Amino acid sequence: MPEGDTVWRSCQRLNETLGGQELTRCEFRVPQLASTDLTGVVVREVVSRGKHQLFRFGNDFTLHTHFRMEGSWRIYPHAGKWTGGPDWQVRSVLATAEHDVVGYRLPVVELLTTSEEDTVVGHLGPDLLGPDWSLSEALRRILADPDRSVGEALLDQRNLAGIGTFYRSELLFLQGVHPRTPVRGVKDLARLVQRGKQLLYANRWRTEQTTTGDLRNGRRTYVFERPQLPCRRCGTLILTEEFGPRGQERRSYWCPRCQPAV
Ligand SMILES: [Zn+2]
Repeated sequence: MPEGDTVWRSCQRLNETLGGQELTRCEFRVPQLASTDLTGVVVREVVSRGKHQLFRFGNDFTLHTHFRMEGSWRIYPHAGKWTGGPDWQVRSVLATAEHDVVGYRLPVVELLTTSEEDTVVGHLGPDLLGPDWSLSEALRRILADPDRSVGEALLDQRNLAGIGTFYRSELLFLQGVHPRTPVRGVKDLARLVQRGKQLLYANRWRTEQTTTGDLRNGRRTYVFERPQLPCRRCGTLILTEEFGPRGQERRSYWCPRCQPAV
């Protein structure tokens, strides 16, 4: 699942391609927008907000999309071959004179007025890669529920926007914190959150994320997706479990020695 840095990079590229350009073709292959056509409209800008994508148009409408597990936006030269998946997975096509921008497998495709953006992203906490980032506000939101596990608090986009299961696992390892530690029991929560921002920032232009500094396959993470493999620091076997609110359980990885339960 794409995390905040991947969405940020995608929106940077979309903005470079579409920003200031007039749409020469516009298709929404979702029932609620099937008859909507923005051909001739200028794209003002494309920005990310946490893991959400916002395409702002000159007619004061905003297209809101989200990747969830499998979605992506791909950019092709105009009339070039589309390679992001079978045609039936295409949810939207936004073309300019020079490029075809194709949205695949997007579970969220909705159009709203730009002034209404808060109805879809207003609930989000400070964006780790956004101009609104505020460490103190993120900490205030996290600490509002002191008994909640830090593992759940980091994934809750209402606390801070951009962290998914990859960064959660790696961040907690780097800080030596067990995922189920209650928020009130985390020694240096500010340092942990700040480090999360640094990790996303360091990876924001990379296609493949790394937290170890090593870009080779199988060496990019300390604990994420390494169950039953030896910890890179102490050799203890990495553990994994799913936990979280009912229906939203997410997989977590940790080293029981480097991240002891408290
Ligand atoms: Zn270890």
